[in-house]
Amino acid sequence: MVDYIADYLQQIRDRRVFPDVKPGYMQSLVPDEAPARPDKWEDIFADVERVIMPGVTHWQSPYMHAYFPALNSYPSLLGDMLANAISSLGFTWASSPACTELETIVMDWLGKMLGMPSCFLHGDRHSRSMGGGCIQTTASDCTFVTLLAARTEAIKRYKVGQPDLEDAEINGRLIGYCSDQAHSSVEKAGLIGLVKMRFLHSDDNLSLRGDSLQEAITADRESGLIPFYVCATLGTTGACAFDNLREIGPVCEKERLWLHMDAAYAGSAFICPEYRSWMLGIEFADSFAFNPSKWLMVHFDCSAMWVKDATALHRTFNVEPLYLQHENSGNVTASPHWQIALSRRFRSLKLWFVLRCFGVEGLQKHIRRGVELAMKFEDLVRSDHRFEVSAPRHLGMVVFRIAGANELTEELLKRLNKQGKVHMVPASLKGNYVIRFTVTSQFTTEVDIERSRVF
Ligand code: PLP
Repeated sequence: MVDYIADYLQQIRDRRVFPDVKPGYMQSLVPDEAPARPDKWEDIFADVERVIMPGVTHWQSPYMHAYFPALNSYPSLLGDMLANAISSLGFTWASSPACTELETIVMDWLGKMLGMPSCFLHGDRHSRSMGGGCIQTTASDCTFVTLLAARTEAIKRYKVGQPDLEDAEINGRLIGYCSDQAHSSVEKAGLIGLVKMRFLHSDDNLSLRGDSLQEAITADRESGLIPFYVCATLGTTGACAFDNLREIGPVCEKERLWLHMDAAYAGSAFICPEYRSWMLGIEFADSFAFNPSKWLMVHFDCSAMWVKDATALHRTFNVEPLYLQHENSGNVTASPHWQIALSRRFRSLKLWFVLRCFGVEGLQKHIRRGVELAMKFEDLVRSDHRFEVSAPRHLGMVVFRIAGANELTEELLKRLNKQGKVHMVPASLKGNYVIRFTVTSQFTTEVDIERSRVF
């Protein structure tokens, strides 16, 4: 299997990136029931190519330009192989001390790599902070858990003045905010948290501005609602646009709203100092999250989330039955209490391996290379008068369309994906149908980018 994996990754450019199968393709390739007796390993192994690979979209392919990257790397795969062999569940410090301790350490390493203010780091034994980082499954989870923590805080604060109100009554009046460019996971967090979510107009640069936020908060307060949470996006899914933290931050501080920053894709780029201007205003954040599982070559799942003060998360998620208590309870970081599930995988191992094997400089080189290739693709688009670049290119993503009616771009994308030689997905930007081209794979070369033009 290890040889197969190595061959798969080395020869991935020979496969069509997007599979040519119809829904239900697998049904006729496998029996209707599980085998009564053990299958032979050779038969199981042979079925990988026969049954699985025909239906795989090859995310590690250099011709994968859809969504955002979801990269892996050998150090990451090996780290996880070890984690899977150990297979301990780090739900408390005592359930596997190395799991909690390594996560605490690598989250501080990673926070320092991004230039996060020290209040977001755990700190060392001598100076533990109120905040810190932990690994969550997805950016959607980070948004949801921070929304729940913000909800706990808002209800608690509101009850100081109105102690007779039921939590549910206050909950029904809570309202959160994000821009009309925010990821659908923010809407979903509101749906599950049973709070209203207002999607505010972004400006011409697809950025949420402070005055729009302030106006909405004022109007909502006047109508009896309780503003409590803002999710700002750094690197939107549609166009990699950035909300204006320097404007939004002071509004949140003045109005006492929890500010979460969702940098799912772009966060990886902040390991390069030249991209950190988009983080200016980070000091106003209550929480910040990005996915090393996107661009940092730590394979899914690995979402890095930091909070300035973990008290609200503890209040929201902490229940401590006797069987989870141990003699060091209370003396150690308890990030297991910062999530919905109890059990957590040993995900910090793969992150630790990646940070050590590439080093900060190796990871910076990888990010900068991705940006360079996207700039090359942007030049190609701009040099062809039939196309237009629909929004400023940021980092490794170019959004473009055929000048004219939306249907033309739609048809082009349909044909490209049908050929299966490159893969991209669309987005809608203020009524325009656009194609998103993201440089994903670390194996993409300039020749591959040139080749994309031919298709
Ligand atoms: N936020 C943004 C800005 C994203 O682009 C994405 C996905 O691409 C998400 C959140 C959701 O990420 P996840 O799949 O980790 O929940």
